[in-house]
Order: sequence, then C-alpha cells, then structure tokens
Amino acid sequence: MSPAAPAAVRDRLRIAIQKSGRLSEPARALLASCGLAWRESRDRLFCYGESLPIDLLLVRDDDIPGLIADGICDLGIVGRNVLRERALAGEGATAPREWRALGFGGCRLALAVPQEESWSDASQLAGRRIATSYPGTLAAWLRERAIDADVVTLSGAVEIAPRLGKADAICDLVSSGATLAANQLKPVVTLLESEAVLAGPAAPFGDVRSELAALLLRRLDGMLKVKDSKLLLCQVTRGMLDELLQLLPDAEAPTVTSIDGGDRIALQALCRGALTWQRLEDLKRAGAQALMVLPVERMLA
Ligand code: ATP
Ligand code: ZN
Repeated sequence: MSPAAPAAVRDRLRIAIQKSGRLSEPARALLASCGLAWRESRDRLFCYGESLPIDLLLVRDDDIPGLIADGICDLGIVGRNVLRERALAGEGATAPREWRALGFGGCRLALAVPQEESWSDASQLAGRRIATSYPGTLAAWLRERAIDADVVTLSGAVEIAPRLGKADAICDLVSSGATLAANQLKPVVTLLESEAVLAGPAAPFGDVRSELAALLLRRLDGMLKVKDSKLLLCQVTRGMLDELLQLLPDAEAPTVTSIDGGDRIALQALCRGALTWQRLEDLKRAGAQALMVLPVERMLA
C-alpha cells in the first residue's frame, strides 16, 4: 500500500455530479433548493459556488466514487449501484460511503434471463455465462450463494448479449422493464435496490469543509423531509379532535390553537401521506371545517 498523501487543507467544498445523464438535472435542482448557486464556467465542467463556498465538478457518473476516494472531490451525487460496485470491485477500505439516500434516480440491479426460460431459483445459473457492467456486485452476490457462474464484463449493450450468443443471462439496471422486454428478457432476481445518493468519505474532513458539509446536510435533510409533505390547516370543535387525529396517523406533531378561547380550535399538521380529496372528505365528515392543504417549501428542525 502506498503511504497516504498528506490531507490537503481546503476552505471550499467540492461536489461531483453527473455532467449529462439521468441524475444531472435532479442533482442540480436538489442542491439549488438547498440554497446553492453557481457561476458557470465556459467549459461547463466546473461551477464556482457564489452563494456559499461549495463548488460543483461535472463528470461521468462512474468517475465519482474514485474522485472522492482520491480526495479530488469531497462529496458526490451518484447512483447507489455505482457506489456499491466501486466498493465491491476492490478498494473497500477507501471507498466512499453513502451519506444520504436522495429519493430520485430509482432503479434496481436485476438478473434477467430469456423469456422462454423457466425459472426456479438462482442455482440454475451455475456454469452459465452472465453479462454485466457490474462485475463486482454480481461476483459478490454469486459468491454469497456459492454459485459458480461465469461473469462476462461488458461496458454497454448488456441486454443484447444473450441474443448475440455472448451470454445466457444478464445482470443490469432495470426501471420499467421495457428494455428487457424489448430484448425478450425477463427479470428474475433483484440484487440491489438503487437510487441516487449523496456519497462522502469515510473519514471526517478535519477542516472548514466539515462545517460546510454539516450545513449542507442540515439543509438537505430539511428538503428531503418536506419533499412529500403538505401542511394541513383546519378547524374543529374540541370534542371532535381525537377522532380527527385518528384519521391523520401520518401527521407530525400537530399544533392545536384555540380560537377566541372558545370550543373551536385550529389544527395545523405536517402530513407525510398524500392528502387526497378522499381523505379531505373523510376529515370533513369527522367534523373538520375550513380545510386547507398547503405546500411546504423549506423546513429547519
Ligand atoms: P455517464 O455518461 O455519466 O457515464 P451513464 O450512461 O452511465 O452516464 P445514466 O444512464 O445517465 O448513466 O444513468 C445514471 C444513473 O441513473 C444510473 O447509474 C442509475 O443509478 C440511475 N438510473 C435510474 N434508472 C435507470 C435506468 N433505467 N437505466 C440506467 N440507469 C438508471
Ligand atoms: Zn456511467
């Protein structure tokens, strides 16, 4: 092992995100919603943080774990599938960690076989060839089950490998399953449920970057928390309150204020579940009046 390079002290935080692809826009939008704004450079590879000392580096998603491991970037937004592959394909000790799941870019890494093949369980993969761009994750999965199969590593067009006679099965990312179906394949086992994650180093930064990262995490957590939440406002008589709250199991710390010191009270609750018309009608039947559902923009606990 080479001796560790002295940690560079830096006073700005650098976040790697995908330059162009499925995660680019949602990653940028999420960071912008945390109050970050950047000046674009002409080559659009580096964006200088103007509102906070937090810069962006726009790269290929596959490079993100390595950039963090090498200390070139401090954090990154990348699919869990890419992060896990890097950790399993060696370098486990220096591999970046998942700091937060971000709730977009959802997909799964799945094994798929030709549609006409009958499937009972994974042991039938023994001695077969499986094409994948995730050799580390697949090999680890096979090893855990003591299945001896041939892992054929391909960098792209994995789904056509069976038709070309290069493999008997594949292990690839699936979201709707339409690509598999178009290639006469069917998913049979899920190896990994994936989504975009915030990745960071296992060890603390040890300089001002720690505070910047903590600030970003606080804002991110606030954004992730309000993502599917709505604020419910309504009025109800005191005697009906318990019944009403039973209809709101997803309401967080409801606030109750009495109106003019009388029997009527105003209720304010942050609800996680969808406040559909049906639910509002149920609440109304339980005695709620002046029901209002408001979007939540920010939250700081
Ligand atoms: P790059 O040029 O950055 O290497 P890419 O082609 O590897 O791009 P994309 O296809 O944009 O990457 O996918 C980026 C990430 O989006 C994937 O690693 C995965 O986490 C997520 N993703 C979500 N749904 C899918 C899907 N149906 N197929 C592939 N990736 C998906
Ligand atoms: Zn990629």
